Amino acid sequence: MRVLVVEDEHDLRHALEKTLREEGYAVDGAEDGEEGLYKAESWDYDTVVLDVMLPVMDGWTVLERLRRTKKTPVLMLTARDSVKDRVRGLDLGSDDYLAKPFSLVELLARIRALIRRSAGAASSMIDLGDVQVDTAKRAVFQKLQPVELTAREYALVEMLSFRRGKVVTRTELYDHLFAEEDQTLSNLLDVHVCNVRKKLGKNFILTRRGHGYVIEG
Ligand code: CA
Repeated sequence: MRVLVVEDEHDLRHALEKTLREEGYAVDGAEDGEEGLYKAESWDYDTVVLDVMLPVMDGWTVLERLRRTKKTPVLMLTARDSVKDRVRGLDLGSDDYLAKPFSLVELLARIRALIRRSAGAASSMIDLGDVQVDTAKRAVFQKLQPVELTAREYALVEMLSFRRGKVVTRTELYDHLFAEEDQTLSNLLDVHVCNVRKKLGKNFILTRRGHGYVIEG
């Protein structure tokens, strides 16, 4: 899953990007509102973390303009726990907010919840027969035994699981699993698919030639 962090405070932005990458998200950053809006309009992010106080264009304006074309889940970062700010954000179409200072653990939980909600998943557990995907713990079990996946392998399984039964194209997978700065080697995705099959069975992810990949179940 791919997240955009729009935040002008360098230290905070880098800390957020680093934490999100460690969790297996593909992460892009933007340091002002204009760059943030441009990226949010250019890519289908799974969540945008949007600071309110930004140079060039503030977070309110970014949100208002983005909502003219896109429903991307937006988590606003407000400077303080102000009811007025929260209401304004929700009225403009934000999906959630966090008041600064916040804990990274809470931010991660809220991002997981936003992604679940936009995928239409009522529960954090996705049941695929032999395999269960726990999107809260970001863990995968097969016949009740934990299966060790890398962060990127997990992201691939999670995205296909959220859309089980539907073919996800290679382009969509690249857009959601890799960030701007990732190497877009043409076989990178195939390597991850191959590794997941080694761990969860060769028929866990099916190839639809010319279309993409699918998890049945
Ligand atoms: Ca700021």
